Amino acid sequence: MTVGDSFQLAGLPTLSRATAARDETARKDPQRLDRLWKSGQVLLVDKHGRTPVRDGATALAPRQALEIADDRPAEAMLLGEQDDVAYWVLPSTEELRPVAAPPGAWSLWAGAESAAGEQWHDLRGIGSLLDDTAAGLFTTAVGLLNWHARAKFCASCGSPVTPIAAGWASKCTGCGREEYPRTDPAVICLVHDGADQVLLARQPIWPAHRYSVLAGFVETGESLEACVEREIAEEVGIQVADIRYLGSQPWPFPRSIMIGFAATADPAAPLVPAEGEIEHAHWVSRAQVTEALSNGGQLPDLILPGETSIARQMIAGWAARA
Ligand SMILES: [Zn+2]
Repeated sequence: MTVGDSFQLAGLPTLSRATAARDETARKDPQRLDRLWKSGQVLLVDKHGRTPVRDGATALAPRQALEIADDRPAEAMLLGEQDDVAYWVLPSTEELRPVAAPPGAWSLWAGAESAAGEQWHDLRGIGSLLDDTAAGLFTTAVGLLNWHARAKFCASCGSPVTPIAAGWASKCTGCGREEYPRTDPAVICLVHDGADQVLLARQPIWPAHRYSVLAGFVETGESLEACVEREIAEEVGIQVADIRYLGSQPWPFPRSIMIGFAATADPAAPLVPAEGEIEHAHWVSRAQVTEALSNGGQLPDLILPGETSIARQMIAGWAARA
């Protein structure tokens, strides 16, 4: 085995962390749900996926359920239970004004502040700053809300649907069909040369100098491994070998799971970036990646993916040859 072949993720991906019990049996037990509401706490999440946080965005700031309503609102979704507290999510329409993201954040949206001065931030931005329990709850909350926001009508007959099972399913008002939260699998693959180079690429829409490993959605009828081979070939025009699994992370933006792989390729093979999809791809040395990692993930000409992404764990794992 050559150097670099045996690396693993540097750590558990930050959004794969979770500790709360999902308590699937409670979801269809209205009396139990009502009891869980009385002692529960509620994550409010706005249309940009932002929730109230505290302590420099290292902790969530949920509301006491009874401060919101004496009785369980029909749209309240049960996230799970932790230390005898049930956690719920509700969508929020609270008026917010933009503020800068906190240090260390990797946000899609600017942060926000309420009229009372409370900070609201999004999962992609602050997921890595939260502890395991909070990261898991916020990830599930965003996933459920994003699914419901994009699945308001029956895929079979087109009638409106109603959430059931504490948010974990919906039922069609026309034909009665039940639907469950959908997740789209996407593969993400760190391609290396079996020695000291990794293949990094950038999309034209990304901020200047940001590079990452390659990724793409799994097609119907396709295995994960076949998807890795196809995506790499489509995006940069090379063949990969030695495909192996590294780990996965939910990525509810809006409803993916990123399934991480490693593979090798010949660095002498010509790279042919896909027009419009890949602006630039190149082999980068372990020394340069290590230097970027030790400098907060960036150098003047190389900005690595943020701490919330599985890509960061893949690249750091490869760099450390763990
Ligand atoms: Zn229907």
